[in-house]
Amino acid sequence: MRKVSRSLPAPEGLGIEVIGVPVGGAVELDLRLESVVEGVLVTGTVEADLKGECVRCLEPIEQELEADFQELYYYPESADRFGGASKTSEDDDEDEEASRLEGDLFDLEPVLRDAVVLALPLQPVCQEDCLGLCSECGARLTDDPDHHHEAVDPRWAALQGLSALASEAGSEDSGTREGAAENQEK
Ligand SMILES: [Zn+2]
Ligand SMILES: [Zn+2]
Repeated sequence: MRKVSRSLPAPEGLGIEVIGVPVGGAVELDLRLESVVEGVLVTGTVEADLKGECVRCLEPIEQELEADFQELYYYPESADRFGGASKTSEDDDEDEEASRLEGDLFDLEPVLRDAVVLALPLQPVCQEDCLGLCSECGARLTDDPDHHHEAVDPRWAALQGLSALASEAGSEDSGTREGAAENQEK
């Protein structure tokens, strides 16, 4: 058994569209390498700084990521023994993805990528109760919770005019609505 710690620049693809480890960002790895019958069992932890944006308000987000992973890297010569037995169509995919040692080396990148991507928040937010953006002007509502617009959306103004007309005959309290309708006619 051997323990290895490494700090590496992040490769491409350590993330999803809205959040991830920036290319070249520091990736801290703590690995434990164990010799087992079939190959080398790699158990590790990855730590990295994430950069992304809030899916509701687009504010930049910085978060720390920590993820665990484990992968068994088979000896190259074990391919037949472990990959060839009792294949079903479902096993085929797994066999192709089975990690193998290449000489004294193993390729950690696919394992690392899976571990990081699985640990990412799918819907990262700047804060749990982020209110998002105003649908009319794009203002960030968390900064200004009382934010609202007096003006009626023009797409609804015509409807409001209709409802004012409809209630014109009967009700006494339709004054404000009639006023609005008049304003729109001008
Ligand atoms: Zn937000
Ligand atoms: Zn607004």
